[in-house]
Amino acid sequence: MGIIRELSRSVIEKIAAGEVVERPASVVKELIENSIDAGARMIVVDLADGGKKRIAVIDDGCGMTSDDLAMCVRRHATSKISSEGDLWQVRSMGFRGEALAAIGAVSRMKIESKPNDQGIIEGAVVEIEGGELVKHSVAGSANGTKIVVSDLFYNVPARLKFMRSAAVEYGHIAECAISLALANPHLRFELIDGGKKKIVAAGVFDASDTKGMVARIASLIGDRYAASLAALCEDGAELSLWGFVAGEGRRGGKDIHIFLNGRSVKDRMLIHAVSSALGDGTMRERCPAAVLWLNIDPSAVDINVHPAKREVRFVNSGAVHDFVKAAVRKALSGALQSPCFKPAEACDDPGMAFLQKIVSPQTGEKFFEHTGSSIGAPGDNDSFKKSFSGASGGDFISKPEVVSKHASLPSSVGDVQCEACGVENSLRTIGQLGLAYVLCEDADGSFVIVDQHAAHERLGFEELKKGYGKGDIPGQRLLLPERIELSPRDFGYISENLQLFEAAGFELEPFGGTSIVVKMVPALLSGMELSEIFEKFASELEIFGTANSVDEMIDRIFAVIACHARVRSGDRLGTEELCSLVKDVERLGVTHCPHGRPALVRFAPTEIARWFKRD
Ligand code: ADP
Ligand code: MG
Repeated sequence: MGIIRELSRSVIEKIAAGEVVERPASVVKELIENSIDAGARMIVVDLADGGKKRIAVIDDGCGMTSDDLAMCVRRHATSKISSEGDLWQVRSMGFRGEALAAIGAVSRMKIESKPNDQGIIEGAVVEIEGGELVKHSVAGSANGTKIVVSDLFYNVPARLKFMRSAAVEYGHIAECAISLALANPHLRFELIDGGKKKIVAAGVFDASDTKGMVARIASLIGDRYAASLAALCEDGAELSLWGFVAGEGRRGGKDIHIFLNGRSVKDRMLIHAVSSALGDGTMRERCPAAVLWLNIDPSAVDINVHPAKREVRFVNSGAVHDFVKAAVRKALSGALQSPCFKPAEACDDPGMAFLQKIVSPQTGEKFFEHTGSSIGAPGDNDSFKKSFSGASGGDFISKPEVVSKHASLPSSVGDVQCEACGVENSLRTIGQLGLAYVLCEDADGSFVIVDQHAAHERLGFEELKKGYGKGDIPGQRLLLPERIELSPRDFGYISENLQLFEAAGFELEPFGGTSIVVKMVPALLSGMELSEIFEKFASELEIFGTANSVDEMIDRIFAVIACHARVRSGDRLGTEELCSLVKDVERLGVTHCPHGRPALVRFAPTEIARWFKRD
């Protein structure tokens, strides 16, 4: 008898659901996209326990009839396309008809809806439990749709196990909700968690409302750039670009948000175009912050090359690159422009409402005169710092306890004295190569090359571990506590692990929204740029998961600290620094950096002799 059999419907559904629903944020993404497709002007996302317990998404979109309610939860059921030809014209966010079926298969889901139609006075409700329709009846609903997803993954233990803390799940939700809200300026958007309003962004319908637009951007991504955002509006033959840019964003394009035909994309070519607008030489040092809406004829772009639609393919990518770069450069150079956008129309044609979201500003309509390149309220960083320094007096100043001096250890046989600095050890320092390596001779005539950055990393790491073991990591209290604004997602990972950071020598406090205040850092980090390091911490914590012991997590944190502390390759070291590094390398038997890269290579005298054919 054969061994191949067809899978049961419930297994098939769970597999399909697994592909669509990875975590609470995936549910929120799908539901918001549906609301946007339904032409909503207002969306409220109301969470309990960071979405782990309950996710409710309420919209004022076109709603569904009682019959459609029963259909919408079935697999491959959609109102957005009906034939193969439609596939190539799709402008809605979804069209596969999979999301509601998938979410319903792995949760308890309730959908209440009423079409926005004078003729229909009663709404309807369906309830799905683990994929089964358990209720379908009339309900006294308001116009629009309300979907409540409770106990996600209650019937998929493997997925349930991988859910993170409420703070982390909330962070992922906020990140994707913010991106969708940014993409759709006309949308009034609220994100609530545990009864608290976390984000409220008013819809902007009037293109002359630059202040409103900047305030909206600030309420979604923070007010860091609000004071310096300059509007831009550029029309080309097949494409148009509008939005806001500021000169000072984080490196690596982290503050560049691009919406291509209404969808968020993280396309490398587009990010490069925006970054390089600042001037090619400065690209790595500085990068703009930008919120840009690029509209392009759908036939000139393929957005389906990447499954998450992050990367896209353009028919003429060189032209798109140059267009975007020139437009951003013009705006950054202070050329005053009027932002040009046309808000979506009301949901009077339910089926097609979503189509109006993508509007080309090529209408020629002039909405308003721009008032200047500097818009919005100035950032509050200075007053923030002042308020701290006022309260703290001189208390925050304490001497950094820098690299601890090691007790001298008995020297090994064969020690030589370094001619240059007189330090006793078996490795004699010859010099520095390429500002990256220390060349040494060992007592037995071996040639030893030390990677200065890798070695320093290891030494810093060991120093931190030693301090941790003793419960005393030398810290430096910051003169002015530093406020670091993080993405909601990074904030989730950091705030989930505050105790870990305390043990690692930090003093941190969450500070409203998604920012933290750093009051003390391990001494090794004194004077270092902190925001980048915290982003690195967050990504390590994300990759590393929670299944690991505290000590393992601490090691990851220490590895990041050590990597950012002190000497990097490219630093010229003085003779004494070279010698003391070599001495420490030898004393601690350093062979690898904390990430596992070699810190030292050794060539025996016989091997060197072989190079010169002397053997
Ligand atoms: P898709 O979005 O790919 O069509 P979904 O499973 O997400 O598939 O949704 C199925 C159908 O349910 C949609 O095509 C739409 O007709 C309807 N629908 C879903 N959410 C809403 C909503 N919030 N308002 C109105 N209709 C909705
Ligand atoms: Mg959908």
